[in-house]
Parts: sequence; structure tokens; C-alpha cells
Amino acid sequence: MRNVIILGLTGSIGRTAVRGCRDFSNELAITGASVHSRTQEAVRICLENGIRNLCVTSDAPCEEVPGLKVWRDLSLMLEALRPHVVLNGISGSAGLKASVCVIKRCPVLALANKESVVMGGKLLFSYAEKHGCRIIPVDSEHSAIDELILSEGRENVKSLVITASGGPFRNTPVEELKKVTPEQAVKHPTWNMGPKISIDSSTLANKGLEVIEAHYLFDFPADDIEVVIHPQSVVHSMVRSTSGQVYAQMSPPDMVFPIMRALLEYRFPHEAGKALDFTNLNLNFMKLDEERFPFVADAYSCVRLEGSYPVVYNTANEIAVDAFIKHRIGFTEIRDVVRRALDLDWSFTPTCFEDIDEVQKKVFREVRI
Ligand code: NDP
Ligand code: MG
Repeated sequence: MRNVIILGLTGSIGRTAVRGCRDFSNELAITGASVHSRTQEAVRICLENGIRNLCVTSDAPCEEVPGLKVWRDLSLMLEALRPHVVLNGISGSAGLKASVCVIKRCPVLALANKESVVMGGKLLFSYAEKHGCRIIPVDSEHSAIDELILSEGRENVKSLVITASGGPFRNTPVEELKKVTPEQAVKHPTWNMGPKISIDSSTLANKGLEVIEAHYLFDFPADDIEVVIHPQSVVHSMVRSTSGQVYAQMSPPDMVFPIMRALLEYRFPHEAGKALDFTNLNLNFMKLDEERFPFVADAYSCVRLEGSYPVVYNTANEIAVDAFIKHRIGFTEIRDVVRRALDLDWSFTPTCFEDIDEVQKKVFREVRI
């Protein structure tokens, strides 16, 4: 039996993980979880699922209930519970601090929080190596690539092909994009996710973040990472082998598969979700329209330039998406804000996590909306 802690319990990833763990109760026990502000909701999920420890990461009040210990410090909770694997399902750049905290104390980090990889970059992986922590990606594309590299052998993989659904505005006339509202942008055609990642999927900033994430996770240069549009989200990604063949990973669009793969460390005693049904299954692939979605090209530039550019891409986007959700800027202005931030000089390369904090603070000063 493996002890599991779920960070971001109340989120889309957190809830899916709880559902998945219920099906693997002989293998996995959730001993603790974290929540930021929706404490009432978190307490209810804990009580329903026998989770006895909850860490609240904001100042939000939390009711005391028998059988549930409330913590206010993640490191103390991790040190007391000593979990084998921690799932980081926190949204946004706040996830990086949590990842660092886990890496120092736990053997396995199941990482859904892509912002940790984008901002932490090489520092995150050298820190994990130093502390003997294994990072298993949960983002569906990266989980697929991880699996394919594992089965094909790294030396036989020439390049990566990341699939993108294209989001809800794949076919919307470009001139209409200006009028898109936050309510329209959060509705994703194939995935059910939290608000921030849903909006990122509609601008394709999410795909940009994933290109950067793939670069750091698998150590492939920008030229060996492709993005291809695949509206059905059934092929989660592919690899091109040195022989010229392409290998793909398929499963229904349900995050339970990549989450359980990471929590179970690749060893599934039985299926994690519904089997893929080939009745009426049509799979399409097409080239990414870079004019419609310039955010992806921006991410490639960040991978090539390195320095602090990936941190800036992520942070400026987070600021812009927040302003868009609050109706302070329009949909197409999200990318304009990020572009303007990237046009400054960010050649400085962070050498510690505090440097990353400083870069973020500078972005907050520069990007005023
Ligand atoms: P949600 O918005 O649904 O959930 C976010 C969770 O993080 C909530 O539990 C929230 O707590 C908590 N949280 C929010 N802010 C903070 C903070 N400052 N400090 C600590 N905890 C915080 O997000 P998702 O589940 O959709 O996404 C989580 C991560 O997984 C993201 O990085 C996303 O990119 C990645 N991911 C998600 C996928 C998905 O299908 N959803 C797919 C692939 C990757 P509270 O409820 O109290 O606010
Ligand atoms: Mg993804």
C-alpha cells in the first residue's frame, strides 16, 4: 500500500485523482491533501473519502471536524505523514513552491502543475536529482511522451510530436476572436478542466507552456518538438523514431489515465478508465495555424532564448488571463500583454529558486494592466 498526498484537492485534477484512487484502494491510500481557499468543499471531500489530514495554504478559515487534522504548513504535514508519492494539482505558478517542498521530502512527485516545469526549468530537475526524487509528468501529452520514450528507448527517439485540440476557437473567424468572453473561453470541447488552463487552451498559450515543459522534461531542442492539431484529443502525443516511424499513445480524454499512471508508477493492476471505443472514431490531424495562434511561436522563441524568458512567458500570461477573467482586457489582448513583456531583455539566467521569484516580481512591475 502506497501513501498518497493530493495537492489542489478541490481542483479538476484533485477530484479526478480522488475518483481514480477509489478504484485502486488496494494499492493507494490518500493520507492527506491541500486546498487554498475552498476549505468547506475540501473538508467535505476529505470526510467522504477518509482523508485525515488537510493543509490549508491560505488564511481562509477552516472548520475543525473530528477525525480531520488541519495543517497550515505543507512542509510540516509532509514531514509528519512521509507520503511515498505527492500529486501536485495546484494551478498556476504557486505550484512551483509546492513542488520544491515535495522534492526535498518525498521519493516521487506526480506533476500536473506544468508551471513548475516551465518556471523551474533545469533548476527543478537538478534539485530533484540532488534529493533523489523522481518526477513523473501528469500533463496528458507529457505522460504520453514519457510512456513512448520508456517503451522505445530514448536513443531511438528522434523528435516529439505534441497534439493540441485547437480549443473552442479553432474555426472561429480571426476577426471575431476580439469579442470572445471569459465565459466562452472556459468551455473546452474535449476536456473538463479548471478555468486558467481552459482559457490557456483557448489561446493555445497552454500548448506554448507544454512545448517549454517538454523541452525541460525530455531534453529535446525546440527544432525537435512539433505541435500538430488533433481535435478529438484521443492521440495524446507521438514520437518520431530514428527509423522514421511514428508511435502514438491513445486513450479516451480522461485525466484519470495519466494521473493513475504517475501515482501507480506505471504499474496498473487493472484499467484506470473506460476502454477506447473504435465505433465511429474518426481521428484528424492538421497543421497549426500560427497566425491564428501566435502564442505557440512565442513559446518556441522562449525555449531558444532561455534566460528568464520561460518564466516571463508564464508569469505575464498568468497576469493577462487574470485580467481577462475580470473583464479588464479583451481576449486577443492576452497575447499582446505577453508579447510586450517578452520584448524586454530577459537574458538573465536564474541560478536558484529565489532568482525565479525576483524575475516574477519584475514581471509584475513591468506588466501593468
Ligand atoms: P483548478 O483550478 O481546477 O484547481 C486548482 C487547485 O489548486 C484547487 O484545489 C485550488 O484550491 C488550488 N490552488 C489555487 N491557487 C492556489 C495557491 N495559490 N496555492 C495553493 N493552491 C492553490 O486547476 P486544474 O485542476 O485544472 O489544474 C491544476 C494544474 O494541473 C494546473 O497547473 C494545470 O495546468 C495542470 N493540468 C490540468 C489538467 C486538467 O485536466 N485540469 C490537464 C493537464 C494539466 P481552491 O479550490 O481552494 O482555490
Ligand atoms: Mg496538456
